[in-house]
Amino acid sequence: MTAAVSPSSPPLISVRGLVKSFKGMRALDGVDADIARGEVLVVIGPSGSGKSTFIRCLNGLEMPTDGRIEVDGAPVQTRSNRDWRRARQRIGMVFQDYSLFPHMTVLRNICLAPQRAGVATAAQAEETAIRLLRRVGLAHKADSYPVELSGGQQQRVAIVRALAMKPDAILFDEPTSALDPETVGEVLAVMRELAREGMTMVVVTHEMGFAREVADRVMFMDRGRIVETGTPAQVFGSPAEPRTREFLDMIL
Ligand code: ADP
Ligand code: MG
Repeated sequence: MTAAVSPSSPPLISVRGLVKSFKGMRALDGVDADIARGEVLVVIGPSGSGKSTFIRCLNGLEMPTDGRIEVDGAPVQTRSNRDWRRARQRIGMVFQDYSLFPHMTVLRNICLAPQRAGVATAAQAEETAIRLLRRVGLAHKADSYPVELSGGQQQRVAIVRALAMKPDAILFDEPTSALDPETVGEVLAVMRELAREGMTMVVVTHEMGFAREVADRVMFMDRGRIVETGTPAQVFGSPAEPRTREFLDMIL
């Protein structure tokens, strides 16, 4: 649970009437959501319900078919290349498969984007990278290549890479689903720490323990729509919608 959420301040991320169609099939069918600064929102739902598409729209990886997304009052999906790039810089993303560049060292992986985007000089980027690596216990791996790291270590590097851009929020798409069970905990621990520090996070996950403990709100999606949103206690303890109950019965 995070301390920084204030319901009265304007949302960091605001989503209205979001629709995303793939060849006429609506992956998102009218999604409205507000995400407050410092909030941890956990998104759950069956496979194919639109969870990935939703968060990919939030950082401009997918162009919405209709609707509006604003980050800090500025629209994300404009036609302008520059606006799009700026929006993506402000919202970090961590994928299920880590997506590190295999031919680059850990340090290069982390420093590449901040340098390219001009948010840091080479020296600043390295200093930040080492500091962040130390925080997740991986400073000694700075010169290693991804293949030399365990899945959990690679995912912690991916989180550091997102943090190095000093994002306003980080989106996580099933960050522990590809990990060996013994390394899931070390990644969740880093995420828990980020939440405690007030990072705004949207997390697609099947880790219900994490959701119960860390989420400010849980959002259940089905067939491209938000079926219900509430605190973990509400959604897990007494879901309002039968579809939520069915899903929880299936996975818990
Ligand atoms: P989830 O993450 O909840 O499993 P997704 O957002 O990945 O769901 O997918 C929602 C729906 O959109 C699914 O039916 C999926 O097949 C479809 N979809 C997602 N991405 C694409 C794409 N690039 N092209 C075509 N269909 C897609
Ligand atoms: Mg997905």
